[in-house]
Amino acid sequence: MEKTLLQIKGTLWLKPEDPAIRKAAQIICAGGLVAFPTETVYGLGASAIDPAAVARIFSAKGRPSDNPLIVHVAAREQVYQVASSVPERALYLMERFWPGPLSLVLPRSSAVPDLVCAGLPTVAVRMPSHPVALGLIRAAGVPIAAPSANRSGRPSPTSARCVLEDLAGRIDAVLDGGTCRIGVESTVLDLTGPRAVILRPGGVTREALASALGEPVFQAAWKGGDAPPSPGMKYRHYAPRAPLILVTGPPSRRRIVLNILAEYFRRRGLKVCLLSSFLNQHGHDDLEYISRHLFRSLRRCDALKAGVILAEGIDSRGLGAAVMNRLGKAAFRVIRV
Ligand code: AMP
Ligand code: MG
Repeated sequence: MEKTLLQIKGTLWLKPEDPAIRKAAQIICAGGLVAFPTETVYGLGASAIDPAAVARIFSAKGRPSDNPLIVHVAAREQVYQVASSVPERALYLMERFWPGPLSLVLPRSSAVPDLVCAGLPTVAVRMPSHPVALGLIRAAGVPIAAPSANRSGRPSPTSARCVLEDLAGRIDAVLDGGTCRIGVESTVLDLTGPRAVILRPGGVTREALASALGEPVFQAAWKGGDAPPSPGMKYRHYAPRAPLILVTGPPSRRRIVLNILAEYFRRRGLKVCLLSSFLNQHGHDDLEYISRHLFRSLRRCDALKAGVILAEGIDSRGLGAAVMNRLGKAAFRVIRV
């Protein structure tokens, strides 16, 4: 097998077959970094119980050390390795939504190094549903800490090619499992207080969580000032190279404004990339399509050397909440019409 290994700047590009998954697991166990596909986006994995390996994640990404990582497990029982207690509600949600795009913030066990949780008393845990992710965690035999496999601040990667664009030469390997089905990251849900609070909207919707729990689910907000409810909230994220202007409001009005802006920038000689919402056969925003293609489209604007990116806002219900959260963080300016 060694002879046929493909490397890009020293990073192994592995097909997601059993021998390659075993090799990737060995790299993880030896303290290395492996990017792997999940149903949301590609993760950059290291052993969650190896502080030196976890430190390498932060330096490969250029991630601020006060932004904690999500720990990935392959079985529900594995949660007890990283969480000191698991409330009843969490057990129920694990039953209902795992494996899947839901990360649960729980009280942290002492086995988890400080760096994983950025010193917080809590840990975020999820069980992904992608077979390659599950195979890798099982073969490694340890929980895997993994943020998105992009350089910090850039759009998250939804293919191995996007991972290599950002991290070739900075990580040991990437397992190529094709493109990600959901395309935006997991929902981060805090269950450590009396109320269930979404810290980051994602692949499992607030509506689905509220209906499963039979209680309201809150969305955390942060307007600057004191410590945010989740460290990730204070960082600008997901940004393509060109400035992105997000236009929100009723569909007819936002489209008029987008056309005016496009014309304005074109006349000034700028290359304009337009991200316009995609309608399904019923004439509604096709949220699954939009979320699957969102980060890829932002990276495509970079590849096309856009001078400015104009993005059309969508209704922020259901999966739209995650899309609008990412667009809002990527935006240089938001115009409400
Ligand atoms: P990423 O790894 O890029 O998907 O980002 C993980 C997100 O989860 C960031 O926004 C973190 O701030 C958030 N997160 C991870 N662990 C915790 C935690 N223990 N408490 C609150 N937020 C967390
Ligand atoms: Mg990320």
